[in-house]
Amino acid sequence: MRWRTQTDLRRLAKRQRGIIWLIAASILAQAIVFSIPATQTPSITLMLAYFQTLVSILIGVGVIRALIAQGNNIIAIALCSLLAFAPSGNILLLIMVSISVTGTLRQAGIRVGFMGAKDDEVLRALNPMLCRGCGYDLTGNVSGRCPECGRDVPPMASMIEATPL
Ligand SMILES: [Zn+2]
Repeated sequence: MRWRTQTDLRRLAKRQRGIIWLIAASILAQAIVFSIPATQTPSITLMLAYFQTLVSILIGVGVIRALIAQGNNIIAIALCSLLAFAPSGNILLLIMVSISVTGTLRQAGIRVGFMGAKDDEVLRALNPMLCRGCGYDLTGNVSGRCPECGRDVPPMASMIEATPL
């Protein structure tokens, strides 16, 4: 697919990590709202309403950014964003987006764990010859150290270098 460049997949993995944090934040927000007993105090009610609105906005923005990074069409993004900004059902939508993104990343050969895919993992999966620190191409590296950032060269890059052609 046209959008599956290294940069796109790293961005997608990053947006998914954002979604996973939002799931945790939503659960926490729900717990806070339910743990506060019904009150007649207008200021607390107003504060809770602001808090829930803020969480909804963060979720809406997070979902839209993840769906754009995944390369979805504009109609699908618009429909999901309507759901994302709705006051309820946010957590379910976040989980669905995360599952969908996991499928996309796995198709590209990236290992995705409970907390998403780490940037290192995305880089390594896409090209084992790239420096895990900065993405510099280490093919044929002889120093055993990345010339860009000074990080140790992964064993695979050294091995290929040592193999006579
Ligand atoms: Zn480097």
